[in-house]
Amino acid sequence: MLTLRQLFLNHNAQTTGFPLLLEFERAQGIYLYDKAGTPFIDLISGIGVSNLGHGNPQIINAIKQQVDKYMHLMVYGEYVQAPQVLFAQKLTQVLPDNLQSVYFTNSGSEAVEGALKLAKRFTGRQQIIACKNSYHGSTHGALSVMGNEEFKQAYRPLLPGISFINFNNTADLQYITKATAAVIIETVQGEAGIRVPDVAYMQALRERCTETGTLLILDEIQAAFGRTGTLFAFEHFNIVPDILLLAKALGGGMPVGAFIASNYMMDMLKEKPILGHITTFGGHPVSCAAGLAALEVLLIGQLHQQATQKEQIFKQQLTHPAIKNIRGKGLMLAIEFESFELNKKIIDRCIQNGVITDWFLHCSNSMRIAPPLIITAEEIIKACTVITEAIDFHTH
Ligand code: PMP
Repeated sequence: MLTLRQLFLNHNAQTTGFPLLLEFERAQGIYLYDKAGTPFIDLISGIGVSNLGHGNPQIINAIKQQVDKYMHLMVYGEYVQAPQVLFAQKLTQVLPDNLQSVYFTNSGSEAVEGALKLAKRFTGRQQIIACKNSYHGSTHGALSVMGNEEFKQAYRPLLPGISFINFNNTADLQYITKATAAVIIETVQGEAGIRVPDVAYMQALRERCTETGTLLILDEIQAAFGRTGTLFAFEHFNIVPDILLLAKALGGGMPVGAFIASNYMMDMLKEKPILGHITTFGGHPVSCAAGLAALEVLLIGQLHQQATQKEQIFKQQLTHPAIKNIRGKGLMLAIEFESFELNKKIIDRCIQNGVITDWFLHCSNSMRIAPPLIITAEEIIKACTVITEAIDFHTH
């Protein structure tokens, strides 16, 4: 009989280079458990999804209650469905005054698509500026604004009118002009290997966009909901985007994304020709119920406020001389090694020894540290002991 892993390889299309191929039975808190019941510390959180840990009882309860009432009734936006309305209300309560209109999507990529369309529609302009080394998703529009040629080549022609500037480079802001519909940028670059821009840069970017009538789209799909130590990453820079993109942790483990703008801007999408954006499953009621519960749990526990202190514990523990650099903010960190080969060996040994981590799409020499925010100091120390042993093992 074929194992689950063999069946996976036979029938589940493989579209990435090095799948981790790990198999787990269940997950609870910060731990993933294999068939034998062995716990593994999750330092990835599904890439920034399970910020509150796995199996949170409030989220599970909200999902169960909603499933009992209804799941899907109609294409999103046609009926008044309580989970979507209450979730949008709660989200907008914690967002600035200009971000009061939420459009729920299925995923991060779809939120990017919606935002690009909205920006073109609202400004009447066609040019979009994105950043080198960015990652915004895998659909055609999102791929078009990805700042990595290698991953795009095979899919050309992509969207026209896209150009790229260097991330965190103030001189390049001059390329933003009155012909630019929008700049799309990750508030903290994720797949580039966790790159935190300077406050002065983000403020200059905001200013330049305002001056030229260009919309600033902040992609916080990976960085929001406490990961960097604040509820939203833009709070670190004292700026506000025109359009905010969310997904991943937004649904508390269930699939949902969102693009969020002002009512005034979003109203463009109902002007003729209509069909601003439409989706069958976007804002799924069960996902919205889960997302609302997740946001309540995060706010009640003020979990985001612990991320900065936990960052310090990681940094204090990870002092091995083979570590070239530790980048990031809060619990969105990257440990840099000399090469992908060394990083991969260290990661494999960490996994063998019960700590799950991986590397970044555009930065293969760096290891991801993105545990659920509920990780304790003791658990951080335990994970760092395993990481340090793995580095030692492969560098001596
Ligand atoms: N933007 C960023 C910053 C991301 O990290 C990701 C996913 N890694 C996306 C967009 C795309 O989201 P999704 O995979 O849900 O389409």
